[in-house]
Amino acid sequence: MPGARGGPTTTEAALADPALCARLVAHARAWYPLESCALLVADGADADVVLADNLAPAADAGGTYALDPRLLVAAEAAGRVVLAIVHSHCDVGAYWSEEDARRATTPAADAPLFPGVDYVVLDARAAGVPEARVFRWSTPRRAFAEVERLDLCEPCSGRAAPTAPARSVAARRESCDKPIALTILRE
Ligand SMILES: [Zn+2]
Repeated sequence: MPGARGGPTTTEAALADPALCARLVAHARAWYPLESCALLVADGADADVVLADNLAPAADAGGTYALDPRLLVAAEAAGRVVLAIVHSHCDVGAYWSEEDARRATTPAADAPLFPGVDYVVLDARAAGVPEARVFRWSTPRRAFAEVERLDLCEPCSGRAAPTAPARSVAARRESCDKPIALTILRE
């Protein structure tokens, strides 16, 4: 179970580390316009990321990802707790797709394939990665539901006065290339 060994108890707690988010963002940007994938793990008292290759054929990797499932086994064999499976969407937004749901649930679609493991979807754009969303299995709904939305970049300096209202993520998508701060928009 997450936190059973005294590490970060939740995906949200792990993602509260801007340096860790920056690594995920850099990975997504390196793979763009192909999807990236990674694991978010608790390693002792610390959170860490396992940056993986997208093993999907290159012709398909712009719209899907294939993460070697042996990475989950290896992480757990090493005493790490897998908090979340992370992947990026390219230019379509960090929404929970039908494919995401299908591959995250059992063949009967009645339970999560990896109980206790969340999913983080990054919104990868040519200009950066402005947003991430966290999805978690909801027992009452018998489906994955969004539990957190993260704003991954600070308002672009020079593009908005300090006193101006924060620009929406959508407004920044085409302009922001500075993934820095982390703000929880909604829990
Ligand atoms: Zn997806």
